[in-house]
Amino acid sequence: MEKGLLIVVSGASGTGKGTVCRKLLADIPTLYYSISATTRRPRAGETDGVEYFFLTREEFQRWIDEGKFLEHAEVYGNFYGTPAHKIEERLERGEDVLLEIDIQGALNVMAKKPDGVYIFLLPPSLEELKNRIKNRGTESPETFARRFQSAVGEISTGQKYQYAVVNDTVDAAAEKIKAIIAAERCRVSRNAALFQNLTHSEEM
Ligand code: 5GP
Repeated sequence: MEKGLLIVVSGASGTGKGTVCRKLLADIPTLYYSISATTRRPRAGETDGVEYFFLTREEFQRWIDEGKFLEHAEVYGNFYGTPAHKIEERLERGEDVLLEIDIQGALNVMAKKPDGVYIFLLPPSLEELKNRIKNRGTESPETFARRFQSAVGEISTGQKYQYAVVNDTVDAAAEKIKAIIAAERCRVSRNAALFQNLTHSEEM
């Protein structure tokens, strides 16, 4: 059996990674979402073990010391990390795994897992990016300016990824990612078994 795909969706702050990933998970029930650990406080409506594993800084440090993370990074003053063990287990079983992580984290995973599928989400325009960050409503004017500047700076990192997907609408972006997944499954390098079966037939 071929291994599953490790699909990493990343992008600058405010490009709508979370919304696009939720749409993908709703459309592809077999996709396994890797739940990250974080030291940030749960927001209203978030549950431990569903959106994130909410850890104290001490617990997070213990997970680092015990080598539990595939990657971890500090994002806006909080720590975030991708637990490693379930991911490998699922991939080996042929299941596709989705990571929604920040750019530093994605670059770290890229170095460790070069056969992953790295997708960078882009805003349709800078104006739209500004609106999206503003509309979150969680930003003070200072944090807004900081987030916007750093988001613009982050965009150029996208050139290190394999795929650039403009998030014009959630549905269209999700469709493009589904097309990428379908194409990745057809890669010759992922289909050794097909070739093996068709070139070693008893009927020849
Ligand atoms: P939020 O706190 O808004 O849920 O997420 C803040 C940022 O952390 C987002 O850019 C999100 O993609 C990123 N993030 C979430 N989980 C992880 C993770 O496991 N590792 C890394 N590096 N970033 C993460």
